[in-house]
Amino acid sequence: MGIIDKQKIIIAGPCSAESEEQMMQTALGLKKINSIDVFRAGIWKPRSKPGGFEGAGEQGLKWLQKVKKAISLPVAVEVANPNHVEMALKYGVDILWIGARTTVNPFIVQEISEALKGISTEVLIKNPINADINLWIGALERIKNANINNIGLVHRGFTSFGNDEYRNAPFWQIPIEMKRLFSKTPMICDPSHIGGKRNRLQNIIQKSLNLDYNGIMIESHFNPDIALTDADQQLSPLDLAVLLDNIEWKSKEVNQSEYNDKINVLREELKELDDELLSIFYARMNISRDIGALKKKNNLTILQTKYWDKRLNYLMDLGQKYDLDPTFLKTVLENVHLESIRFQNEARPKK
Ligand code: PEP
Ligand code: MN
Repeated sequence: MGIIDKQKIIIAGPCSAESEEQMMQTALGLKKINSIDVFRAGIWKPRSKPGGFEGAGEQGLKWLQKVKKAISLPVAVEVANPNHVEMALKYGVDILWIGARTTVNPFIVQEISEALKGISTEVLIKNPINADINLWIGALERIKNANINNIGLVHRGFTSFGNDEYRNAPFWQIPIEMKRLFSKTPMICDPSHIGGKRNRLQNIIQKSLNLDYNGIMIESHFNPDIALTDADQQLSPLDLAVLLDNIEWKSKEVNQSEYNDKINVLREELKELDDELLSIFYARMNISRDIGALKKKNNLTILQTKYWDKRLNYLMDLGQKYDLDPTFLKTVLENVHLESIRFQNEARPKK
């Protein structure tokens, strides 16, 4: 079993290694919180724009080595090319992580995989910055091809323009699908890059723990306000301790017949509704087919914008009565409408 296979793993440390003092002060603060398992620090920083702090490089690895000795905890750094891998291993780094800007690039992930061949280390793979699950799967497969046994996934959110609730939108359905496909691979939440702001971290962590994540990777700096990178999202070790006290780790199963009886009844009810939902979709698509044929006969466009607008508004109003979330309802209705259009276009024969 590797370090990253530990249940409830907590990885914490600064966004960037900035100085020996900053590293040591942060690390000693974190060590006092007894639940920290791994110390993280960014040594090479991929910055969107030039001119910012791009990381301490090799010097940072020397500080990290001292920190590791002082706190007796394993350490983790981001690697973005084979040279980083070589340097990190030379300085005794225990866990390498592939950053979001690297997971998007199969060429570089492949190069990193080649560099890892024959080496026994642990690797975390962050989700790609764009919401493409195949890039995340592809990176996992490439690293597995290097015969790395201990691999974990880190969910840090996805770039989405015009979103101010998060720095990187979580799109929870993507990590949920990764968990379904790779149920034995640990899933770790990085609330810092999802949230981008300190006051959002607790809520994001709790959501991830409710989804049965295995742990957390979170940024911490002894004095976040003077951090050279990601100042708004880093927590002091003291604040991190408070946050960790306030989150609830949930269990997967319970051996309690009262719970089991109740959940079984509720699940049966859901199952019946789901079956009904599918038969309603079936009936609805059959009507769409007839409508499609009728429009075709009369040489009419499939999309009737005015009618669609009227129906959508009516259903959105009705949705309020049923207390349905407008964003959820709109997505469902738009998808049903789109599928109905597809049916009409393709004039699929009736089954
Ligand atoms: C980081 O962890 O500091 C980092 C750069 O993360 P990401 O690759 O998720 O942006
Ligand atoms: Mn960061």
